[in-house]
Amino acid sequence: MADGTGADPVIGQTVFIEDGRIARLGGEPPAGAEVVDLSGGMTLLPGLIDAHVHLGISSDIGADTGYGLPVAEIAADMFANCAQTLDAGFTTVRDTGGIDGGLAGVVAKGKIPGPRILQCGPVHCQTGGHGHLAAAWEPTHLWDGHGIPGLRHLAMLSDSPDQMRGNVREAFRRGADFLKLCVTGGVVSYHDELSDTQFTVDEIRVAVEEATARGTYVTVHAHNNAGLRNAIEAGARCVEHGTEIDDEMAALMAERDVAHVPTLTVVRDLLDDATRHGLPAELAQRAQGAWQGQIDAIHASRAAGVRVGLGADLIGPDQGHRGDELVLRAEVESPMAALVAATSVNAGILGIADEVGTIEVGKRADLVAFAGDPLSAPELFADRDAVVLVVQNGRIVKDRR
Ligand SMILES: [Zn+2]
Repeated sequence: MADGTGADPVIGQTVFIEDGRIARLGGEPPAGAEVVDLSGGMTLLPGLIDAHVHLGISSDIGADTGYGLPVAEIAADMFANCAQTLDAGFTTVRDTGGIDGGLAGVVAKGKIPGPRILQCGPVHCQTGGHGHLAAAWEPTHLWDGHGIPGLRHLAMLSDSPDQMRGNVREAFRRGADFLKLCVTGGVVSYHDELSDTQFTVDEIRVAVEEATARGTYVTVHAHNNAGLRNAIEAGARCVEHGTEIDDEMAALMAERDVAHVPTLTVVRDLLDDATRHGLPAELAQRAQGAWQGQIDAIHASRAAGVRVGLGADLIGPDQGHRGDELVLRAEVESPMAALVAATSVNAGILGIADEVGTIEVGKRADLVAFAGDPLSAPELFADRDAVVLVVQNGRIVKDRR
């Protein structure tokens, strides 16, 4: 067992679960307890956390944003993605744009299998900014027509501080747990460059004010440091991607306690074949610099003491390989660093470190067991067949021992 804190693994540990929580570590099981035997080379870990998912973008992106799919199919793809995510050992995710409280609610009620979902609702972007995935000639006033109330809303457009205030209040009304703003251009973008900054400091500051008023925070999508600097000045607490983070930026982030969630898998996937996601092949060129940039950024953040979480940022169909992010991070850092990022560090970034992220007394019993030891064979992290047991809130939801 590895507990997610970074401590050395323990062999033969018993974990006693009561009322959905970890009640005791070690000792003999009490009489009458259901015993789940993981001897025989299995490794028990905290349930994994993906801090950057898009459950609302689970279909072919071109067909979806081009009104080419019925709502039933979009919903079916989202529900299947939820189930697949849990099956891969991820018991919690942070959705960084595209769903709303509706999807999180049906999973929480147990109507469909899926991970615990914290979500920001739509991303907030400027007209034509990253997240505004309309075709170039689609009139902007039609954009909101892509939203499906209670299921999916990809992005809200703001072009002034007042519009931002109205939009983020609306996102909170629909159940957002935090806010996400796009403050630079993006890889999957049709109308901008990665070097663009988006939103003014004043616009970002309004979102931070509204989030702070509700006891939560703003995270930002940022590939360049100019946009990221604007966001930090405005009070953002977390950055997604962070492709250009260098020693100077990392020092500023450490000083302001801004967390960093790098996303390697999506970049690797787009470099391999963007068309698989229903995106134009040319997008691969945009991803090129992002790959080495994010690897360098991880090292810079680490060296400065920034909290570095982990997110796969998968988009489009077939998101069953979510664990690839741990495999890639194990190559960049180490398998243990990848595990800690995907468990206790991510739980902290999500603001739920008291509840999940480690195997410790009092925490929710969200657990995953692998056949074999992913800390010595990290490719197992991405192998859903190797995920032999998933426990969510103390309940066994997958058992292939
Ligand atoms: Zn994303």
